Order: sequence, then structure tokens, then C-alpha cells
Amino acid sequence: MSKTNKPPIIWLNVTIFLGTFLLATLGVTWYGIAYGYTAHHWVWLVISFIFCGMSITAGYHRLWSHKTYNAHPVMRYIFAIGGAFALQNSILHWSSDHRVHHKHVDNNDKDPYSAKRGFWYSHIGWMLREYQASRYTDYKNCRDIQKDPVVMWQHKYYVPLALLMNVGLPIGLGLLYGDLLGFMLVIGALRLVLSHHTTFFINSLAHVWGSQPYTTKNTARDNGVLAFLTFGEGYHNFHHIFEHDYRNGIRWWQFDPTKWLIKSCSWFGLTSDLKRVSSYKIEKARLARTLQVAKIKAVSLPDSDRIVAMIEHEFQLLVSKLKEYDDLKKQCIKDAKHNVKQKYEQALLSIQLEQLERHLKLKKQQWRHLVNNPQQALS
Ligand SMILES: [Zn+2]
Ligand SMILES: [Zn+2]
Repeated sequence: MSKTNKPPIIWLNVTIFLGTFLLATLGVTWYGIAYGYTAHHWVWLVISFIFCGMSITAGYHRLWSHKTYNAHPVMRYIFAIGGAFALQNSILHWSSDHRVHHKHVDNNDKDPYSAKRGFWYSHIGWMLREYQASRYTDYKNCRDIQKDPVVMWQHKYYVPLALLMNVGLPIGLGLLYGDLLGFMLVIGALRLVLSHHTTFFINSLAHVWGSQPYTTKNTARDNGVLAFLTFGEGYHNFHHIFEHDYRNGIRWWQFDPTKWLIKSCSWFGLTSDLKRVSSYKIEKARLARTLQVAKIKAVSLPDSDRIVAMIEHEFQLLVSKLKEYDDLKKQCIKDAKHNVKQKYEQALLSIQLEQLERHLKLKKQQWRHLVNNPQQALS
């Protein structure tokens, strides 16, 4: 797009982003030097930052955009209010954008925040001009969530809710603790800027910085640092391939507090129907990715065609073993649930499963060795 036919600037957004940024940097620093802050300011900063962040990740993103679980109306109202506090537009608008992002990821003409249009554009630039003006008429890619009264209530009252949370709440806290300007700066401006930019990192940094353990079909990356800043959303490579999984960080050691929140709420009946992709599919994607790397390595070796054929053969064997293990595991769980088998049959099945597990472990070790040393495929 040439400079002359760029769409018009959205002055409201520019004013909000620039104004809050200046207040959060210069204003907060000046006030701190001149008057200082108390522990109350910082505690409320943390609380409000978490409230905004989790409302976006657990609510806007994993609940409404991707429908990875169901939530009790109480949870939905909390997320709707927290989302207005995060000032990232209504649930309906946000989810519509996000669904288009997933559907057309990296397509510069269709993805609203395509990372291929550069860091600045995907981070914030896409919101500074009327790039999407023609798109929002009926939010037709979000017909399903339009049936949720909480979504429509928040969409209708988005502006008063956003004002209440972003102006009313800091004023209220300021009056409570006797420091109006201090709370306006810390909870009004600093919290908003931190919340905005950490979320925006998912569209920008999480598409350029990190690893791609599952797929290279798009630019999304897994990044532990970003996961830490974004309540678990940094495992973006996993998320783009398995968007219907309520988890983003699937390993126990991966930092994904959004997943922990959704899971722990399910123990109290506040969330339900948590969707997970089968471990077979996840493992298969990981293996396919290592196969891709091994093939690239093998190309430069002598007799590369034969090496590639051998690696592919090993890959197929491993995947079929994986499937066998997965099927047997499912069978075990099903039988245990329905208690259909006799005790000795169940014991036999679990011995089989253990054997298969050991075999699979060995196969995986061999596979790892092979993909690191592809020339050994011929030996
Ligand atoms: Zn993305
Ligand atoms: Zn998503």
C-alpha cells in the first residue's frame, strides 16, 4: 500500500495509546519522585493487571473466540467486565478479529494483524488506521457467541463499562486511599499500558520470537518468556495448530496460569467441558516437525534420497506404534470406567500397555538419535 492511499488515522485510538503511554512513563515517574507511592498502589496494580489479563486470555480468547470450554454466567460476567477494563474492544469485536486471524494467519490482505506486515503493524499499527473499516457489519463469523446474552450485554454497554472500569475504578481507589492522582496514574494509565502491550506481544513477538516445535505452516512461536508475561499465551505455536484445546502450555512445567484457572474453576462447577486435543495428535505433530528438520539435514548428505526414505519409514513405524499405544490406553480407560472386564483381563491389558509404553520410549529415543544423525539411517 502506498503512503498516499493509506486509510485514515483513528484519532481516538492514537490519543488513547499515546496519552496513556506518556502518562504511564513520564507521569508515573514524575509523581513517584515528587510524592512517592505506597504498597497499596502496587498491590492494586498487580490485582488489576491480573484481572485485565486473565479476562482477555481465559475469557475473550479461550472461552469466546475458541470455545475451548463452557463457563458459568458468573465467570462470563467477570470476564466481560475485566475485558472492558482491559480496553481491547468488546468480546464480539475482539473474537471476530481473532477468528479471522486464525483462519487467515499471515495473509497480509485478510489477517487483521498479520505478522508478515512487520512488527509495528502486528503489534499496534493495525489499530491506528481504518484498515478494517469495511469488515464489521454483522460479525457473521461470531453468530454462535451472539447467542450469549453476556456477550451482547457487554457489546451494547461497552463504552459505559469501559469508562466505569478505567476511570471510575481508579477514582474510587484514589478516594479510598486518599491519593486520587496517584491511583489515576498507576491503576488508570500504567496498568492499562502494561496490559495492552503484553497482550499485543502475542500478535507481534509471539509470531517472530521463539521455537516452532509443532508446525512451520505459520509464523506462530512458542516462547516461555512471553508465556510468563501473558498468563500462558506465549505457547502460540501450539495454540495455532490446536486452537480448540483449552491449554496453551501442555507440559506441567510450562507457565500457563490461564489453564490453571480454567481447570481449578471446573472443580467448583464454574467451568465445564474443557476440551483437550489427544496426546496422540500432539505427539504426531511434534514427530512430523522433527521429521521435517531431519529431512532438511539429510539433503546435504551423500545418498540423501535413500536416507530420507529410511527416515520416513522410521517415522511411519513410530507413528503407528504411537497410535497402537493411544488406542490401548483409551481402551483401558474406557474399560476401567465401565468396569466391563474381569480383574485378570484388566491386569493383562495394563501389562500390555506397560510393555507398549516401554517399547515406545525406546523407539522415541532411537528416533531422536536418528533425526540428530540422519546419516545413521543407512547403517
Ligand atoms: Zn497468532
Ligand atoms: Zn487464538
